[in-house]
Amino acid sequence: MMNAILRAEGLSKVFSDGGMLSFKQESSGVRAVDDLSFEILRGETLALVGESGCGKSTLGRLLLRLIEPTDGRVFFEGTELTALSHEKMRSMRRNVQMIFQDPYGSLSPRRSIAEIIGEPLDAFGLVRSKRERRERVADLLTQVGLPTSAMDRYPRQFSGGQRQRIGIARAISLNPGFIVADEPVSALDVSVQAQIINLMQDLQETKGFSFLFIAHDLAVVRHIADRVAVMYLGRIVEIGDKRKVYSAPQHPYTQALLSAAPEPDPDRKSRRIVLEGDVPSPSRIPSGCSFHTRCPIAKDICKVERPALKEVASGQMAACHFAAPNPIPPRVREVVAEF
Ligand code: SF4
Repeated sequence: MMNAILRAEGLSKVFSDGGMLSFKQESSGVRAVDDLSFEILRGETLALVGESGCGKSTLGRLLLRLIEPTDGRVFFEGTELTALSHEKMRSMRRNVQMIFQDPYGSLSPRRSIAEIIGEPLDAFGLVRSKRERRERVADLLTQVGLPTSAMDRYPRQFSGGQRQRIGIARAISLNPGFIVADEPVSALDVSVQAQIINLMQDLQETKGFSFLFIAHDLAVVRHIADRVAVMYLGRIVEIGDKRKVYSAPQHPYTQALLSAAPEPDPDRKSRRIVLEGDVPSPSRIPSGCSFHTRCPIAKDICKVERPALKEVASGQMAACHFAAPNPIPPRVREVVAEF
């Protein structure tokens, strides 16, 4: 039976919007992540989806403590990461790794591939000699589908997809239990995206690590995800089993995102739900339900009362006043039926 490998409790991050803010002024900053609590199960891939600027990358960094939360706690295997000293957190980094969006910017251009992939092995004392390090690097390159001869070359000599494979080899070099992949394919050509996603899926199945896979497009994570979390303005508005979220989305925002995603089954029709306006600034989050300024079925209550994330079906939660007991909001039901 699966149990949680990672747990977030009341996690928030407020960035000051210029200059130093006092504690009292903090609420007027940019609320990138707002009071999130959720779990990632052992061996699962949780896909985190939402438009640019909704707080996805900030959340990924908070979970690995690459940035410090304003409030809340993160536990990995029962250990509270947010309470560890910097020294203890450094040794914990062996278990929690990140794959970055930009395979160009995340690899040092002056270091060989052997140095880039071998650096974590050296840092954690996992190799005793240069020869052993080269053997481990060669093995890792093979695992990510690159020739072992790649180790004596430099990042500029590789394509975007190959560089992302190098970033993946580095991330798995320490056999971590949890990896955050921050939009790992969005900078790549569409033809290469599927290859990289298939590689990450194969590696996860053979190595058993848990995965937070961040993307702005529900189509990208359709195959790799076990569960999907949809984020809007710093909060999770829907989370649940992939099949349920894709076949019966309960939150109007999820329905809109899905209606914009390409439908893999040509026999299924869908009608595009076009959202009005832009995503509001995270420094001026709307009152009540933060989605009310764009929601096609918003009512008066939505402007004043923030909906809690509540169970709407077994293994599926949504934050919408009208997601339960009537499972699908009335005006959207017709669109979902056609989807
Ligand atoms: Fe729309 Fe209201 Fe539901 Fe928010 S609570 S998603 S505004 S219907």
